[in-house]
Amino acid sequence: MAFTPKIRKYLVILLILGWVYSLSYLTLHSRKSGNHRQEATLLYRDNRLLMGTLWEVVSPHKEAGKIVFAEATRIEQLLSKYQPDSEISRLNRAGRLKVSPDTFYIIKKSKELWQISQGAFDITVAPLVDLWGFTNQKYNVPVEGLIKTTLKLVGSDKIILQEKDNVVEFKFPGMKIDLGAIAKGFALDCAVKLLKERNINSCLINAGGQIYTLGEKSAHPWKVAMQNPRRPEISGILELKNKSASTSGDYEQFFFNNGKRYCHIINPATGYPADSGITSVTVIADTGTDADALSTAIFVLGRTKADELLKKIPGTKAIIL
Ligand code: ADP
Ligand code: MG
Repeated sequence: MAFTPKIRKYLVILLILGWVYSLSYLTLHSRKSGNHRQEATLLYRDNRLLMGTLWEVVSPHKEAGKIVFAEATRIEQLLSKYQPDSEISRLNRAGRLKVSPDTFYIIKKSKELWQISQGAFDITVAPLVDLWGFTNQKYNVPVEGLIKTTLKLVGSDKIILQEKDNVVEFKFPGMKIDLGAIAKGFALDCAVKLLKERNINSCLINAGGQIYTLGEKSAHPWKVAMQNPRRPEISGILELKNKSASTSGDYEQFFFNNGKRYCHIINPATGYPADSGITSVTVIADTGTDADALSTAIFVLGRTKADELLKKIPGTKAIIL
């Protein structure tokens, strides 16, 4: 992942967190409600660089951060295409691999999301992401012919899943998968599952703008500020409880060529970076996995097709800029 765009993203996240913190500070003081005096809640805050972005954990439980970071590290080691020993890297090299139940689950889930998004969400775009230079930050506009041949390797129907022994196989040599648009959301869900198992029921996790709000903060929903990506202003405040919010935008990784902006989300139908007229889309869903994948899919599909997709997953909504 590019360093410069990430710094830009950190600034956005820091602004968001600044807001979250100031909002938490306001509610940190003890309040009187009826005859009850509610005690101030002490919130612990922890951060860590993981999965190419800054993770922040806010919780009244001191051990929450440690649990979340350990789980995200485990998922990153399975799914990162930047770690040569990850299951995804090994699968991409070999074209066939027996994988762990977690990796098998998320690849299967990605195929389902490919189906319901009519191909807009497609983890097999990896060779196109490489071709456009988004993997190594050597951005370029490839020649048309090269895009056409690379497109032959794209399509999640070309991933063969052997349910009985967790084997994943590609139909054609040269195929690769990239879980960059779903892995953080999945890691959030895995971390939340662990937190619940340890009886932690109040926690805000922000994985580089990908958010999960577990329970409440001092008997109120968590408040999360949304930053306008093109202007230094807050575009809205979300009040969330047991929900995930994920944002995909054209400002995260991009380059200009002849005055045209090319971003890191690829339209699998054309082989070109998505150009649906959306600057940024935030999806709210019950799981991090759905929020993450749907925000990428809607960024590709555009505003008019967003509703049709959201209707297929109950509890989801989108804020489109
Ligand atoms: P980010 O993770 O940068 O916040 P996204 O969740 O939208 O943003 O994921 C973008 C990443 O997903 C890209 O960097 C690329 O690796 C991968 N990708 C690009 N286009 C698609 C697509 N149409 N479907 C699935 N994954 C994609
Ligand atoms: Mg995504």
